[in-house]
Amino acid sequence: MITTTGALDRAADHMRTQDVDALLLGPGADLRYLTGYAALPLERLTLLVARRDRRHALIVPELERPRAAASGAGDLAEIVTVSETGDPLAAVASALEGAGTGALRLGVGDRLWSTFLLGLQEALPGASWERASAITRELRMRKSSAEVDALRRAAQAIDRVHARVSALLKPGRSEAEVGRDIAEAIMEEGHQTVSFVIVGSGPNSASPHHESGARILQPGDAVVVDIGGTVDGYGSDCTRDYVIGDPPEGYAEAHAALEAAQAAACAAVRPGVTAESIDAAARDPLTGAGYGEYFIHRTGHGIGLEEHEEPFIVAGNELVLEPGMTFSIEPGIYLPGRFGMRIEDIVVVIKDGGERLNTLDREPVRV
Ligand code: ZN
Ligand code: ZN
Ligand code: ZN
Repeated sequence: MITTTGALDRAADHMRTQDVDALLLGPGADLRYLTGYAALPLERLTLLVARRDRRHALIVPELERPRAAASGAGDLAEIVTVSETGDPLAAVASALEGAGTGALRLGVGDRLWSTFLLGLQEALPGASWERASAITRELRMRKSSAEVDALRRAAQAIDRVHARVSALLKPGRSEAEVGRDIAEAIMEEGHQTVSFVIVGSGPNSASPHHESGARILQPGDAVVVDIGGTVDGYGSDCTRDYVIGDPPEGYAEAHAALEAAQAAACAAVRPGVTAESIDAAARDPLTGAGYGEYFIHRTGHGIGLEEHEEPFIVAGNELVLEPGMTFSIEPGIYLPGRFGMRIEDIVVVIKDGGERLNTLDREPVRV
């Protein structure tokens, strides 16, 4: 596990400047980032009470204490256990005692289940509530070198998987069969979990998030393979295009335009430019070449402990890029009923540009 040293202290600094008394974070990426604890999402409440005055408490069901303690979170926050018959909301209220003067201002985890949030709101009348991501995004968007290193290892692992894919794509096999083999390869090449496997063949390749299914691969198919897993909690996410036999009509020209657009967007990455300018760098040439209406999603998403996180590379996002930000650049062209294609690399913003963590060739692989 990567622990980001001092992250809780920096969160407390942000709470001070944003006038938030405490963050209430359930299982998920924020909790893991701040404490190293990969908590299970259970019907029992697990909640980090991260206070601006740094008197943090981690409330866990009694049976989870061993896992919480083993994570090292106990060095950063007092672990408070709640028995099966105990009242976790009362434990939260008591962990918040003295956290603020007057009505509490609380930042609540964006993905905390409503069953817990509604209970907390009843137990803490008078408090005001906002999204914890207003604070945690400021930290998590800017990766430490240890985090970038984990993302690099994940990218190298998924590149090794893609290098094995063409041997698996044989006419007569189904998308689902190929998908199962790819999932195995994702683990064999050094990931600890499989996050997703998309194998979209023939017309299915025109559906960006197609679920690998019963369709049988056949000559003339374009195949989009978008796959990812995690290494030390950090994600890989890489798409390459494959063609079985001769490509369909119009495929080669479209792919050449896509490669150029993806390369232009990667080349545009550097500190000081906006997220939306990277989207435009991919989109404008595709629009100019007549494919604009077939590029039906944003150019990319941040990646880290979550597969999709900030910064989002999309029109309207004026966020200015800084070194250490990591995101995908994945333009695509999707012609309904015919074929689709996407090229996806993970890029890290460095001092004087952008570095692609995925380095495999980007031309379609002919099998
Ligand atoms: Zn996606
Ligand atoms: Zn992807
Ligand atoms: Zn992606």
